[in-house]
Formats: sequence, structure tokens, C-alpha cells
Amino acid sequence: MNKLLLPLTEVKGIGEDSAALLTQIGLVTIRDLLEYYPFRYEDYTLKDISEVKHGERVTIEGRVHSEPSLSYYGHKKSRLMFRLFVGSHLVSAVCFNQAYLKNKISINQAVTITGKWDQGRAMITVNELRLTNNVSQAFVPVYSTRGDLTAKGIKRFISLAYKQYKDYIEETLPQELLQRYKLLNKKDAIRAVHFPNTQEEVKQVRRRIVYEEFLLFQLKMQALRKYEREQSKGAQHSYDEDQLDAFKDALPFPLTNAQNRVLQEILNDMKSPYHMSRLLQGDVGSGKTVVAAICMYASVLSGNQGALMVPTEILAEQHFSSLTDLLLPFGIKLALLTSSTKTRERRETLQQLVSGEIDIIIGTHSLIQDEVNFKNLGLVITDEQHRFGVEQRRVLRQKGGNPDVLFMTATPIPRTLAITAFGEMDVSVIDELPAGRKKIETYWAKHHMLDRVLSFIEKELTQGKQAYVICPLIEESDKLDVQNALDVHATLTQYYRGKYEIGLLHGRMNSAEKDDVMRRFEKNEVHVLVSTTVVEVGVNVPNATVMLIYDAERFGLAQLHQLRGRVGRGQDQSYCILLADPKTEIGQERMRIMTETNDGFIVSEKDLELRGPGDFFGKKQSGVPEFKMADVVHDYRALETARHDATLLIQSEAFWKDSEFEALRLEVIQSGALEGEKFD
Ligand code: ADP
Ligand code: MG
Repeated sequence: MNKLLLPLTEVKGIGEDSAALLTQIGLVTIRDLLEYYPFRYEDYTLKDISEVKHGERVTIEGRVHSEPSLSYYGHKKSRLMFRLFVGSHLVSAVCFNQAYLKNKISINQAVTITGKWDQGRAMITVNELRLTNNVSQAFVPVYSTRGDLTAKGIKRFISLAYKQYKDYIEETLPQELLQRYKLLNKKDAIRAVHFPNTQEEVKQVRRRIVYEEFLLFQLKMQALRKYEREQSKGAQHSYDEDQLDAFKDALPFPLTNAQNRVLQEILNDMKSPYHMSRLLQGDVGSGKTVVAAICMYASVLSGNQGALMVPTEILAEQHFSSLTDLLLPFGIKLALLTSSTKTRERRETLQQLVSGEIDIIIGTHSLIQDEVNFKNLGLVITDEQHRFGVEQRRVLRQKGGNPDVLFMTATPIPRTLAITAFGEMDVSVIDELPAGRKKIETYWAKHHMLDRVLSFIEKELTQGKQAYVICPLIEESDKLDVQNALDVHATLTQYYRGKYEIGLLHGRMNSAEKDDVMRRFEKNEVHVLVSTTVVEVGVNVPNATVMLIYDAERFGLAQLHQLRGRVGRGQDQSYCILLADPKTEIGQERMRIMTETNDGFIVSEKDLELRGPGDFFGKKQSGVPEFKMADVVHDYRALETARHDATLLIQSEAFWKDSEFEALRLEVIQSGALEGEKFD
């Protein structure tokens, strides 16, 4: 029996009451307590005062140079001042409300003080003062506390537990991994995490603990994935390869290498008896739609039906028309189902889905309603899946039998998040744009430059090109001072009067009106489309070469990148202009990032840095687990490494048998990953 799994009351010095306090912060066993890590360290290492920056917290040693003077002010408040030599610098020290120190400090006395450095006045506001030159512990851990548990208390309990039980600490990681990454062993790590001696030790401890946390997490995720693959039977597609090749050959362009690669990954899943649950990521314009079309066709060739679900009606219609172009010549019957499908048509469509007459259905979330049933649904693809809630995704997966599911997203999910939040899914990435695409030139303009921007756009219009103009909100809001689409539409209509047609698209229009203006924009009858963000996802008008975004600072980075992706879809040089006067640093930083990179993955990594993982998907559905010490953003390299190692371990026989791996194995088994249960 592992002694560390005993309850906290086994520790001499921790009674029932103390144990109850510790339980309140989730600590039950001795091991829990030993693995209760500090969230930071106070740095008491000595600094050279000439290198300390203004406002920084420092610890310095010095000799008292002047008799301390004590003064009182306010109600029983005191201020004690003295000067000391720190090396060759004369520094002032001030201690508030510690009058008792007056008698302890004498000239020439050696002191070590910790406090905040005021460079202008060469003064330290003292938090702590010690009368030796011996800094006892250079790094003091700081633990989070709650309720009646004090910082002192938690330190004392950890210290007691450590002294009595340190010999029972067992290694969790196999020797091979410890050696490969030169990691501290578990005993040293537990000692050093609570009682570090040097900065270097703090660093080493972090490395070890972060790796262990990630490895364990990845092992659980992958065990779950392995379980799901092996236990759940999905559709097993089998189709005639020649027929599929004929379809690929008929495409107006050759697939990129990346498209071919992900296609193979997806088709392999579809052919296998396992249930596919795959995330397909690809930057805007990387050509996901055609990959989807090929997979759908493969599903139909196998005698199944396919469904494509998208977040907006406009997008549904666009996909419907582009997929019809590609698939109709091959005798495939497609249908469209959205909330504006007429009742009679809708009834007919539903009936034909059940009879199997319809091969492929494209629609909005109307597709997941109860009354939508299929004869033989084999493949479900969702586009821009991050727009759907977790729940909607689940319903879809359960629709009719157990269809293979492919989630497509153009908001590149930073890899760190993809492998944490979607760790139980397989991930394919199209990391290459079709040849001949030009980099979209992105400019940041202030509002007062609007005239120049509009005449720039006019130059493009004269050459027969088109432009999008995006506005954040549709209604005037004094408070937010946001330019509304109606206003902008009026301004541009005035500006380009008699020369160009300006269209308007926003969420308050009914779908017939939206359709109409989109269609006219596609036909180049409307030259400038003023729109709210409804065009954000997926719209494809290759002749549009300018994207102007009003109040760009109001958009997140990922969204700006998404909007920018509406242009640069043809052979011509395209432009994105961000009209913004950002007031915050972060706002300015966003504009800079946009002008500097076209790579969606870099944009999303930066977005993640600026916003943090919790905010990336929106709090509720983030699905990003919490780690004690590891940080998915900053420790992403360790996460990658751990993921790789976990993959190999899960596949190896040794992991499931050898005693070397017992500790890790037990953790995985106890997490429930092998029964397919979700764990946190
Ligand atoms: P997204 O990944 O953003 O959904 P789309 O599928 O809409 O991208 O593709 C963007 C454009 O690129 C479309 O006009 C499409 O026809 C074209 N396209 C896709 N694949 C290729 C390719 N391999 N070569 C050239 N053009 C391609
Ligand atoms: Mg798309």
C-alpha cells in the first residue's frame, strides 16, 4: 500500500481540524498535500542595486549608516527611516508601522531588507527586515489559500508531511524518460518545489512537473481515443477507387499536396470500421470545401448519404451551389435545408432523405432537428464547427446510426488548444494554400485617412474589381461610438454616386433580401458590399480584392483574419484595410500583428497569447483542462513532446505490462479513460 495515499490525519501535527481545512481546498491524501504546488516564488536572492529597475521588489544586504529616526503621523501610524550602504551606494530605507525596529537597528549593523525600490529617491520601502547577512531561503514558495487556511498554515503542513513521508515518494515516470529529458526525479522534485535553493532549481522543478502533468493528461486522452476507436463501430465505407479518381481528375485544378494528404487521412478513417471523429483545420482559402466534396462523394459511392452542416444560411446556399456544380455532373442528388425552406419543399426533402433519394443534404442547424431522419447517413461534415456548441456537435454525431464525423474549421485553432481541447479527436491540417495565391497586403489606417482609403478602393473598382466594407454593428450606439452599416452605406453611396452600386447586407434583413444582394454581388452588379459580420464565414467571391474593416479594433484577431480571408481568393493582388484608432495597447498590437502576418496559425497563436486559453473558444465550451503548474500557452513545447511520447507509449506493449510503467498505467486506468468515461 502506498503510504502517500493515507489520509492527512496520519501526518503527526495535522489533526482533524487542520485536515478539514485542507479538504476544503481539495486535499485529502498525503500525496495531495505534497503535490500542492506553489503558484509562484518570492525571490529573495541578493541583487546588485545598480541593476534594479524602478518599482521592482528587491532583497539587498547592507550596513546601517545612520541612526534610525522615528516619526508618528495620523492615528498611531509610524514611519522609521534610516540610511544604509549597499556596496558603494548609499540607500534610504523606510519602514511603516514597525516602530519596534528602532531599538534593534544600530549603526554598522548588517541588515538584509526586502522591499520596493524607488529609483528616483534611492529608497526602499521595506516589507521585511532581517538582522543578519544570511538570507536563509532565497526562494520562498507562495501557495494559494482559501477559507481559514493561512499561508503560514499550509507551509507548515507541507513541511510536516514532507519530513515524515519523503521516503515514501515513488517515481512515476519511467527511467528512460527521466534520462532522455534530464528531469529531476520525483523525490528531488517534491523537495525542490517546496524548498528550492536556487533559481535554477525552480526552473528544473517546473520542467519536471510540467512534463509529468502533460504526459499524464495526454496518456488519458489517448487511452480514451484508443478506446473509442476500438469500441465504437462507425460507418465502414467502401467505394470504387477508380470512380473517386475520375471525380478528382475532373476538378478544375489539381489538389495541393496538403489537400491530398488530409484527404488520404480522412478516407482511411472512412474505410476503417472505426468511428471517425476528425478535426480538419485549414486557413481560409486553403480549399477545404473541395476536400469535403470528395469525401461526400466517397460516402455516396459507398451507398451512404452525406450531410454538410454550416452555421449560416448564406454559407449553406454557397456550399449548395458550389457542391452542386461539382457533384451534379456525377449524378449525385443534392438538397438544401434551412429555416427558410418552404414548408412543402421541406416536407418533400425530409421524405426523400428517409427514402434515400437524396444523396447529400446541405443545411444549417435545421439538420439536427428531431424530424430530420436519414435512410443511411454515413458521413457528417460540419463547416466552421467552432460556431456550433458542444451539445449541437454531439447531437449530430448521434444522428442515425453512427456516422463518421468530420469537423472543419477555418479559425486555426492553435495547436496547443487543438491537442488539449480536442485531444480525443484526430487532427488533420491543410497547411498550404493553392499555388499562385498572392499575399494579401494589409494596411492599418486611422479614421481621418478615410478619404484616401476610399479613393484607393475606387482604383480597384475602376479595374472591374469589387470590395467588401465591414461594420461592427448595425444600429447606432452613442455609447460605443460605432459606425453603423446604414450610415456607412449612405456615406459610400454618396461618395461613389453615379459610378458604382453599393449593396447592403445585415442580420436584420430577411433571407430573400440577403440572397438577392449576395447574388448581385456575385454577378458583379453590386460593386461594393457594405455588410455586418454575416459575411465572415466562408463566402466566396473571387473577384473581390478589397476588404475594408471599420472599427477594426472591435474585432478579435481570429475574426479579423477570417474577414480578411474573403479576399485574395482569385489570382489578383488583394488588400485588407483596417480602419482603426485603437486606444489600448492590445488593440494596437492586434493591428500590428494583422499587418505583419497572413498566416492564420500565427494569428491564432498570438490571439491566444493576448486572450488566454479560457477566452479562446468562449468560457463555457473551452474544454481546456486545468493543470496545477503547466500552462498550455507557455509550455507548448513540453505539451508537444508529451503528446508524442504518450502516443508511442499507448501503442507500446510495454506500457500495458511492464512494472516500469505501473504508476502511469494506474493513473490512466483510474481516470476512467479506458471505460470511455469523460474525465476532467
Ligand atoms: P476554405 O478552406 O476557406 O473553405 P475554399 O474551399 O472556399 O476554401 O476554397 C477557396 C478557393 O480556392 C475556391 O475558389 C476553390 O475553388 C479554390 N481552390 C481549392 N483548392 C484549390 C486548388 N488545389 N488549386 C486551386 N484552387 C483551389
Ligand atoms: Mg470554407
